[in-house]
Amino acid sequence: MGVFGGIETGGSKWECAIGTGPDDLRATATFPTTTPAETIGQALAFFEREGPVAALGIGSFGPVDATVGSRTWGHITTTPKPGWSHADVGQEIRRRLGVPVAFDTDVNAAAVGEQRWGAAQGLDTFCYVTVGTGIGGGAMVGGHLVHGLVHPEFGHLRVPHDRDADPFDGVCPFHGDCWEGLASGRAIEARWGRRGEELAGTQAVWELEAKYLALGLVSAICILSPQRIVIGGGVMGGPGLLQLVRREVVAILNGYIEHEALGEHIDRYVSAPGLGSRAGAVGAIALAEAALSGLEV
Ligand code: ZN
Repeated sequence: MGVFGGIETGGSKWECAIGTGPDDLRATATFPTTTPAETIGQALAFFEREGPVAALGIGSFGPVDATVGSRTWGHITTTPKPGWSHADVGQEIRRRLGVPVAFDTDVNAAAVGEQRWGAAQGLDTFCYVTVGTGIGGGAMVGGHLVHGLVHPEFGHLRVPHDRDADPFDGVCPFHGDCWEGLASGRAIEARWGRRGEELAGTQAVWELEAKYLALGLVSAICILSPQRIVIGGGVMGGPGLLQLVRREVVAILNGYIEHEALGEHIDRYVSAPGLGSRAGAVGAIALAEAALSGLEV
């Protein structure tokens, strides 16, 4: 069967891996995201040097065109990131490497990885949410990744915004105070004037952050009825944040959905990723394996 390649293309860095799973990574590499030509070139050089791989998976920052058969499949679409708007990633890599390529959002790839090897093992309906520079979310429902019209965009959910308590306008270039606009790492830095890492001792930062994150998660819970929410990303390293989020989720739901997962087992229900920050690249390996077997995840 051979080994597989996985790439998590992030807005600030690309993580590449070769192997068959998290316990069998034969080679890994990380490059800064510069121009499409340079960054794709570095990834190709890595896979040509360390490969060959039987198939490759790509989990990409987005929005993306992941619709199989679309003329622009494999492209990043309307990103505000300079140089990357409508950049072809998937087709270029497939043409240059000459192997089957699976292409999806970074969070859908991470969801697949978490289901296969991480915190969502044994589940068929769950969400993967990442809170970093931006906010992203992917979902698996009934064992299939949700794509639909394009793909889910959890980060742009609308959440209640009490401007008396929090007059901050938000940072989303499209919506201002959507979920990402209010609660991403970029939003924390813009609201408080310092990066999250420098705000560790300021409890009000994390109380407000937990409230916004919980409001978004409750929407996901009410719409999809996930069996678990796996939530990661750099912002979740904030002091006590995960615990505060769990408490807020339970408080906002207010006992309406009667299930032990949303009560005594909330610590397991709102879970940190089992694969840590490698979920995307490792999940992309699982996507690659599925692509080679002709399976649609
Ligand atoms: Zn938005």
